[in-house]
Amino acid sequence: MPELPEVETITRALAASLTGKHFTAIKTFIAAIRYPLDLENRPELVGQKIISVRRRARYIIIELKNRWTFVMHLGMSGAIRIVPADEPKRKHDHVFFYLSDGQTMRYECPRRFGFIKTCLLDAPGAHPSVLVNLGVEPLSDEFTPDYLYSNLKKRSGPIKNAIMDNKIVVGVGNIYAAESLFLSGISPLRTASAVTLAQCAKMVKIIKEVLMLSIEAGGTTISDYKQVDGSEGKFVQQLKIYGKDGQPCPKCNTVIRKAVLGGRSSCFCPKCQK
Ligand SMILES: [Zn+2]
Repeated sequence: MPELPEVETITRALAASLTGKHFTAIKTFIAAIRYPLDLENRPELVGQKIISVRRRARYIIIELKNRWTFVMHLGMSGAIRIVPADEPKRKHDHVFFYLSDGQTMRYECPRRFGFIKTCLLDAPGAHPSVLVNLGVEPLSDEFTPDYLYSNLKKRSGPIKNAIMDNKIVVGVGNIYAAESLFLSGISPLRTASAVTLAQCAKMVKIIKEVLMLSIEAGGTTISDYKQVDGSEGKFVQQLKIYGKDGQPCPKCNTVIRKAVLGGRSSCFCPKCQK
């Protein structure tokens, strides 16, 4: 599933490709993905300059000059490509956005868990009304040790589930939660409310570092994720613990173990992570 670094990588590429241009037409090839697609025959969505492409959590926000805005989610395996208009359609290309420069932006979503919604913003740059109940951005100044500590104090479940909860902090998915906990020396099984303020300070610093390193590497490609130009994310080469159960810990050589938390597999070193 694309996590924050992957969506950030895609958003940055889209911002560079789309800003200042406009959509001349939108064509959908399927009635619904996660929700019904209502993008055709909407004059307010075409001919309007694209003034901003930005990210909030794992959502891509494309804002037009008239404040009409697309909110896109890539689901489990979605991708967005910018290709010439005459390039053949792929099987799971569900939406074509025709651009004023002769290119098309294609929304591909094989498992159909993604969505594209539209909404009219209250003001330029405003928060889209379709996005509710989102926690703080991990790379923002709002994500502080005190903030994390006060939220963990209220939680009785495992720390890994808490840092993956979008109501606390957005965009820290399975891969980056596992990596951050390993580098912080904290077991994913530890009760969230038992984590100390000093440990929260370490985790906040490490979560930010891991996410930024992955953004620099263009994200992590495990199976489906691709960048806008079709290339793979390179952070997979820097993963230390995710998906490595049965292999030796890179710090101490103990065999890495796997637990299942919240339905997701969680690799950890039983010696380094307490
Ligand atoms: Zn170890």
